[in-house]
Amino acid sequence: MMKQCPKCNSDEIISQLSVRGGEGHPSYVSVIEPDPEKKPFVWIPKSEQSHFRADVCGACGYTEFYAENYKALNEGRKKGLEASR
Ligand SMILES: [Zn+2]
Repeated sequence: MMKQCPKCNSDEIISQLSVRGGEGHPSYVSVIEPDPEKKPFVWIPKSEQSHFRADVCGACGYTEFYAENYKALNEGRKKGLEASR
């Protein structure tokens, strides 16, 4: 997490804020298993998703986003899950 602002070098950081807003839902990213060549009758693709936390600099407003569930996203990536559209 951000300890010091990379823009203005302030150490007055507000950390781990929940990111909210959007159309009734907090913003998130997701990865999903691609369709196999022969899709079975019942196909439930594996997927992982993550909301974000933000650190905001209290001196200049610079903001960094962190995916909360980054480990699961990365495990999904290693298993071939792709960015969902
Ligand atoms: Zn700053």
